[in-house]
Amino acid sequence: MITSHQKRLIRVMRVIRKHPGIVRPELAERLGIKQSTVSGLITELVRLGLIQKAGKLASNGGRPANRLELVPSSACAMGLVLTTRSLEGVLLDISGRIIERTSSRLPQWQPEAMLDSLQKVAGQLSQNHPDLRLLGLGVGIAGVVGRQSGISREFPNVPEWRDVNIKAELESRLELEVEVDNAVRAATLAELRYGAGRGVRDFLYLHVGRGIALGTVIGSQVHSGASRSAGELGHFQVDPEGPVCYCGSTGCLESVAAPTALLRDAAKAVRHGVKTSLAACSDDPANLCAEDLFAAAAQGDRLARNMVERAGQAIGRITAGIDNVLNPEMLIFGGLLAGEASALRESIESNHRALVMPIAENTTEFRLAELGSSASVVGAATLVFERAFSADEWLLSRLAGQVTLKSE
Ligand SMILES: [Zn+2]
Repeated sequence: MITSHQKRLIRVMRVIRKHPGIVRPELAERLGIKQSTVSGLITELVRLGLIQKAGKLASNGGRPANRLELVPSSACAMGLVLTTRSLEGVLLDISGRIIERTSSRLPQWQPEAMLDSLQKVAGQLSQNHPDLRLLGLGVGIAGVVGRQSGISREFPNVPEWRDVNIKAELESRLELEVEVDNAVRAATLAELRYGAGRGVRDFLYLHVGRGIALGTVIGSQVHSGASRSAGELGHFQVDPEGPVCYCGSTGCLESVAAPTALLRDAAKAVRHGVKTSLAACSDDPANLCAEDLFAAAAQGDRLARNMVERAGQAIGRITAGIDNVLNPEMLIFGGLLAGEASALRESIESNHRALVMPIAENTTEFRLAELGSSASVVGAATLVFERAFSADEWLLSRLAGQVTLKSE
């Protein structure tokens, strides 16, 4: 049974986690309790080693106030992300600092071999840091994932991957609590907690990598949807007469505007003798890579620029429509858009700006993802902290350890 005093301690920790660097007066205001009461709670949490002072806030005249944050080493989590080519892993402390990271190539996409790889990497990461207070493991994966069930329903282009219960399998193998979610929603969560979306109530996270997906934050929560499949922007039909998509539809955004689609079309153009600097990039047009294409577009190659502009139009038209519907504060560019695909990012932004409803107050800010290529794996680990901070008993038992919290 949790006492009201313990509940207040937990509320203090929750607010400090969401607003690292907060000072006592603001904390008291957010909690709706007196500053003197807050001071007592802060003293107790500092004594328990759960929060700490983190510098002072400069003041106009009065005494500078102490900033507060969670003690980074008070909890950490492991994150793993499966991409089509590799398995990324991190150990993350609660402040969002990466303690260790690892990356390995995937041997094959058989479910059993994949689970073996996940188990092996998780075991190595935890073995290297036996002293950490590890709260659990978060796994990010493409496709539809039931976050509560932890079942990965499917993986794009891998027919043998169906209904793999990653949570149950890894919990029994590792004796750790496991969270599973879609990798782009995990990346969105990472930007919300530690990146460009910190403190932003409503934002969109646009990811272009092998596919195209959109994470949505509404009211400071990552939106998952009724079937936990929200974010599949890549399967927005943009051309009913377009190419067949692996989802079974035709002319999906991904099949006309994702880098793989652009490369497919570029290779065809090179084979047909179209004048382009891409012809000199590789002996075999099939080996062209996204980096070649975006670099050529940035350097003004006519074919590459036209292809990237066409993709930017298709994507920007849709994000502008979503902007009209949801009216977010910010659109964050992630995946390749935060790096080498600057030409595509510029095209999306200009098309979006041209098509969004011209409302004076519509001042959607465009930002680059701050966590770059680490966003998904950091977000996977962050799933563990989200669960910890959503359950009072769990948080008390895990964070307080053997320390007995003072009862009222
Ligand atoms: Zn599709």
